[in-house]
Amino acid sequence: MRCANHLNAMTGVTCDRCGKPICPSCQVKTEAGILCRQCYRKGWRSRIDQRQLLRMSATGLIAAGFCGILWGVLDMLLGIFPEMLISQMISEGSSHSALAFLGALIGFSYTLLLAIGASYVIGATISIRTRVEYGWHLVLFTSLGIVLGYAIATLLARYPFDQVHFIRLPADLAAVGVGIFIIYKRLYEAKV
Ligand SMILES: [Zn+2]
Ligand SMILES: [Zn+2]
Repeated sequence: MRCANHLNAMTGVTCDRCGKPICPSCQVKTEAGILCRQCYRKGWRSRIDQRQLLRMSATGLIAAGFCGILWGVLDMLLGIFPEMLISQMISEGSSHSALAFLGALIGFSYTLLLAIGASYVIGATISIRTRVEYGWHLVLFTSLGIVLGYAIATLLARYPFDQVHFIRLPADLAAVGVGIFIIYKRLYEAKV
């Protein structure tokens, strides 16, 4: 394709709003994908249409499902150690609450790493599929993906729930919260 503004420039990229071919010097990256300068000036930069919302949610759902399953498998392997410590506390009484704290801390650390890993995969997948690289829509769909991924992982790895899992839950939720905060810091505004 030839750029609509520069007939000697070849390009494979089209404007996400009007569909006309645009070369790199005519492209503007926005919260609503890649736009031509005319559409950008018309004020389309922060408006995401329904087609794109649908694409973002569908891509987020698939990526979250994939990450959730992987997360669950890793949780089964990595969870053995913190759960051993917490079980020990439960069987020996509250004098070993330091063990439970240590267990919850280990659980928090690796859940945080998994949440950050999942956020990279889900955020990047949505970005590649929709060409939206920043903005609150991307933050929202990536965050929902993390929550869904965590839910899938927890059901896979820990169901049926017992006392150990409830002791770990606050640390887990804190880790997911920190993960979402990192997504916000990383994807909310355009990197210049
Ligand atoms: Zn356009
Ligand atoms: Zn051009």
